[in-house]
Amino acid sequence: MKPFKIIGVLLILTSCNLKKSENIPSVDNQVYTGPIIDMHIHVDNENSLPPVVLGLCPPFSTLIESFDPQEKFEDVWNEKFGNPDCENALMSPKSYDGYLTELESQLKKHNVVAIASGSLTDITNWKSRLPEHIIPSIEFRITRDSISPDQMKTLIIENDIKVIGEISNQYAGIAPNDPRMFPYYKVAEELDIPVAIHLGSGIPGTPYMGYPDYKAKLSNPLLLEEVLKKFPKMRVSIMHYGEPFIDELITMLYHYPQLYVDIGGIQWAYPKEYFYEYHLKKMVLAGFDKRIMYGSDMIIWPKLIEHSIDIINEASFLSYEQKADIFYNNAARFLRLKK
Ligand SMILES: [Zn+2]
Repeated sequence: MKPFKIIGVLLILTSCNLKKSENIPSVDNQVYTGPIIDMHIHVDNENSLPPVVLGLCPPFSTLIESFDPQEKFEDVWNEKFGNPDCENALMSPKSYDGYLTELESQLKKHNVVAIASGSLTDITNWKSRLPEHIIPSIEFRITRDSISPDQMKTLIIENDIKVIGEISNQYAGIAPNDPRMFPYYKVAEELDIPVAIHLGSGIPGTPYMGYPDYKAKLSNPLLLEEVLKKFPKMRVSIMHYGEPFIDELITMLYHYPQLYVDIGGIQWAYPKEYFYEYHLKKMVLAGFDKRIMYGSDMIIWPKLIEHSIDIINEASFLSYEQKADIFYNNAARFLRLKK
């Protein structure tokens, strides 16, 4: 590149930066009260709920502060949920009916429309029960779900599916750029349906909790680079924003302007001060507040929705407008919801 061109680019960058900083809204720490799109909830059926009540004391990262491998991790983990040792533990509902009622009340109370991922049967049931609050998404893992790309295409069209996700290949040790996924990405691009890919942490001790093939290193968002080049028209959301690979994420958001993230429960998986300081604030300061989407990663505790909302509302460095973007506007744009 010739020197005068470099200077020209620098001038443009400088003038854009000045304009942007003048437009940074003042922080008022107001609680956001508008509609919310939750990009990340899981739906269960009667048989997939645990048979006993489980008490959750967030955050996950401090639940088991140390562990002696002479013990069985699964036992230590389960004990923590059987006897939660915190005030106000989130208790899983006692029955499936209780679960449905509690979930419905959370969605209504907080004016939430949720991208719900699960089996097709469960999603269809939930959609018919709560049509105003559920946007159907089809979960997918190559080694678990034996459907061909053509079959997926048919399922999406026939069931009015709006998102392919959660794509959870990481649990099977499969990277997002595994060529086996390419025919499915092609379907997404052809149908113009967004994909939402799990990149980030599962529960602590995931490899010892039924997912021996899970690989933490596959959380790295750089693994998506080849995919975004090969399928440039595909809308992609990184669920859990590829944490903790925050610098790798920043460079991906920078170079691939179509890329979005959902915060997917990481706000309650770690102490919130850590999440704020090293992840959320970093994404916002880097200039990507228009591509961060709210997500609770609600599993079996419906009150996690409220807890997850509170954590975003309590982030004092966010303006009301930034909260509105994270809670609603960014997801509405990503999903191309009609106004
Ligand atoms: Zn996930």
